[in-house]
Amino acid sequence: MPELPEVETIRRQIEDYLPIKIEQVYYSDVSDSLFRPAVKFFNPKGLTILSIERKGKQMAWKLGEDEFILTHLGMSGGWRIKREKIGEKHTHVQFEGRDRSGQKIFLGYVDPRRFGEMGFVNLKTKEEFFAKLGVELTSSDYNSEYFYQSCRRYPERAIKVHLLDQKTFAGIGNYMACEICALAGVRPTRKCGKVTKVECEKMIEATHQVINGQISHSGLSFSGGYKDTTGNDGGGLSNLVVFHQETCGMCKKTAVKKMVLGQRGTYYCPHCQK
Ligand SMILES: [Zn+2]
Repeated sequence: MPELPEVETIRRQIEDYLPIKIEQVYYSDVSDSLFRPAVKFFNPKGLTILSIERKGKQMAWKLGEDEFILTHLGMSGGWRIKREKIGEKHTHVQFEGRDRSGQKIFLGYVDPRRFGEMGFVNLKTKEEFFAKLGVELTSSDYNSEYFYQSCRRYPERAIKVHLLDQKTFAGIGNYMACEICALAGVRPTRKCGKVTKVECEKMIEATHQVINGQISHSGLSFSGGYKDTTGNDGGGLSNLVVFHQETCGMCKKTAVKKMVLGQRGTYYCPHCQK
């Protein structure tokens, strides 16, 4: 599933072509569940994508002061960019237009498993969507004090389960949660109430390390899921220390342990994480 680094990779890759004037819109085999909030009219033809905001895994493409396309990639969604019409299977929505240099461009939304969502909304609705999400991890609001206070609210919760709470931290999924705990030296099962202030600082540093490391590799592709806008896999696998690893990438000697926590496969190093 795409997590924050994968969505940010896509955001940056599209941003390189902005502004994009949309001249034509194509739909193919669209299910009703794609559009949320539900819209009868979704036709941004003639409008221009000016900029792209992101909070967590949610993107908002700005088309005007009061016009936005919300796009959430769900489990397997992604955007492709091509100079000719995109023929890839499961391309449900496609915009044809002109990029900043006046060249023809196609932006296609591809989603084999159809858990992604898209909406054509006004500013108020966009703000409401963003407000429901937890803190953006690349903002200064995500700091050790915020982290510590959030842990105090759920003292009995396992720290890794806490990291996956989208209302507290926007954009962390399973691989990020495992990697953040590893790099911070904290066992995924540790109760939030037992996480120290110093460890909260380490969690913040570890988060930035995971995000920057993955973005520098164009994101993490795992078992045929995420692809970037060129249709290529991200190279982030080489940047993992515990997730789906046999030997810990930090101490380079201890076998990584796997367990199920909150119904999700969880990986940790019994030597490096306390
Ligand atoms: Zn280790």
